[in-house]
Amino acid sequence: MTTTTIDEKVTSVAVYPPHPRLANPEGREKPWVSSMAEYKALYKESIEDPTSFWTRIANETLSWDRPFSQVSLGSLKNGDMAWFPDGRLNVAYNCVDRWASKDPNRVAFVYEADEPGQATKVTYGELLAQVCSLANVLSSFGLRKGETVAIYMPMIPEAAVAMLACARLGLVHTVVFAGFSSSSLAERVIDARARVVITADEGLRGGRPIRTKAIVDEALKTCPDVEKVLVFRRTGNESVPFNAPRDVWWHEAVAAQRPYCPPVPVSAEDPLFLLYTSGSTGKPKGVVHTSGGYLLGAGLTLKYVFDIHDGDVFCCTADIGWITGHSYVVYGPLALGATSVIFESVPTYPDASRYWRLVEEHKITQFYTAPTAIRALRRHGDDFVTRCDLSTLRVIGSVGEPINPEAWTWYNEVVGGSRCAVVDTYWQTETGSHVITPLPGATPAKPGSATFPFFGVELAILDPTTGVELQGDDVSGVLAIKRPWPSMARTIAGDHKRFLDTYLNPYPGYYFAGDGASRDADGYYWIRGRVDDVINVSGHRMSTAEVESALIGHKAVAESAVVGAPDELSGQAICAFVTLKDGFEANDVLKSELVKEVRTRIGPIATPKTLILVDDLPKTRSGKIIRRILRKVVAGEADQLGDLSTLSDPSILDVLINKVSAAL
Ligand code: ATP
Ligand code: MG
Repeated sequence: MTTTTIDEKVTSVAVYPPHPRLANPEGREKPWVSSMAEYKALYKESIEDPTSFWTRIANETLSWDRPFSQVSLGSLKNGDMAWFPDGRLNVAYNCVDRWASKDPNRVAFVYEADEPGQATKVTYGELLAQVCSLANVLSSFGLRKGETVAIYMPMIPEAAVAMLACARLGLVHTVVFAGFSSSSLAERVIDARARVVITADEGLRGGRPIRTKAIVDEALKTCPDVEKVLVFRRTGNESVPFNAPRDVWWHEAVAAQRPYCPPVPVSAEDPLFLLYTSGSTGKPKGVVHTSGGYLLGAGLTLKYVFDIHDGDVFCCTADIGWITGHSYVVYGPLALGATSVIFESVPTYPDASRYWRLVEEHKITQFYTAPTAIRALRRHGDDFVTRCDLSTLRVIGSVGEPINPEAWTWYNEVVGGSRCAVVDTYWQTETGSHVITPLPGATPAKPGSATFPFFGVELAILDPTTGVELQGDDVSGVLAIKRPWPSMARTIAGDHKRFLDTYLNPYPGYYFAGDGASRDADGYYWIRGRVDDVINVSGHRMSTAEVESALIGHKAVAESAVVGAPDELSGQAICAFVTLKDGFEANDVLKSELVKEVRTRIGPIATPKTLILVDDLPKTRSGKIIRRILRKVVAGEADQLGDLSTLSDPSILDVLINKVSAAL
């Protein structure tokens, strides 16, 4: 036995072929890819003849100001990759003008405000005028191509307008999730060297006002370089602080500008934005994405993975403060001229039916959310879902964490009514767009597996210690990518060395994703969780995802997180944290049942030594479980938790620490 790979075998066996409704629709266009043979042929071309593949795709998908003569340059070994290097384009032109000139009345955004029943629409024609006016405002501030603007806004169409106005001028934006504290905002504004911040007076989430502008003011006390703050009036609360001439009202500034602004063509390799990662594993990194390759990746993946056709209404619930919001609320949908839903509220406001009423009301055809939301809604029971008409849905997606097979099955059956494609999309801030994903209409799904690589993505599973690529199927190790792809990050803002050291130097010649993975006997990829989180019990390496899924398999369990606790006998022992579904009572009988569940599902080696029932798990502001914190707490190192700026609810820490010390 080797101790260098994750030992357990894939246990899930269920395979779900594409529903005939997707592969062979009646009265609708066929999916972009409607069989595995078609997927394989396109994938093969993307790997064996990348020049012809990407030339065709990049010209089909984007409109270029100056055509590129070369597809790509550089290598992962040197960290100098570039795509379409001599091509020039404008991202806002591609996302807005192309569609506004064809059909100005086509809907770009459906805006579902925090309060139900207040939805409004923004057409491509309106969007063009708004983006242009705002771009002229930004120019009037003296901003020029290459400068960075920070955006700290609620989930409203104006947040997308702000991003696109930057893109129109070749400015770089950095969107900071508006749930971040003033100090986290300040840190990012300083790191990004922004001179201008775009924000709103207040936000609204679940009926509660958020003091957005006041948080900005607090942050800017430590950001002396910020000269202008542009404030959108969201709630109109008159007590919101306002300090002219630094602060400028959006509506006043825009009213004074011409609603047309010529797009500034930029190099395909000019940065479009920088964005900080979620911070699940440590201090967030300011990832830099380019204009050409990134936009192509976002548009192309959305088209194929969600099978977007004319007339579809696509809804991604991610906040624009995260990469998922960038690629699949804004850039991907607009690159295709599609209709994208901007959701300002929370999934449980006013009740746990909110998403499903949204689908019913706007006749949403593709829906994309995160496992954390799926698990939370599953916890509330099926009625909230089944009372709504979800018949328009065709593709439902998941992103952000491994989706446990139980949660996948619930999503498929209860939300999808067993008649949709479920796409479990694996990717990262750094990859820019999906890298491992099923294609609806083609890929037979296995719950819990992200299935196969997207076009142009060449995957490898490496032995974590030797870095040797593991050949064949039925192997486990660390996930790596063997060649550059268009939407990959090019650097970390201001710290190229950290970029190389984090992603490219660990295994020279490969992009190292930081996640463990297996390729099963059928060639399917399974993400096993973070490499840092792997547990080692008596020399057996175990993935967090597998043990957590076994726990979720029990009817009482809502969520779980497992970590390794130091153990004299076995090196590490499994310590499991579990939250319960509504209506289940925490007691010792249940605890032993849960331990037994893992033992029978996986085997004695995976038996949790300690199982702790908690009300909440530590999560990032984007909803991902932060196992690093749990690991520190069980190791008795609660005084060394590291960067906690992305922890969504720091108040749970004390309870957690007390529970752990009582249990261990
Ligand atoms: P940081 O890099 O700062 O620790 P983060 O990795 O959480 O934060 P993101 O870029 O938002 O920041 O998340 C990417 C990670 O999310 C992936 O590396 C992977 O661990 C996880 N992930 C995303 N989608 C999936 C998926 N479908 N299946 C399994 N894991 C996923
Ligand atoms: Mg990461």
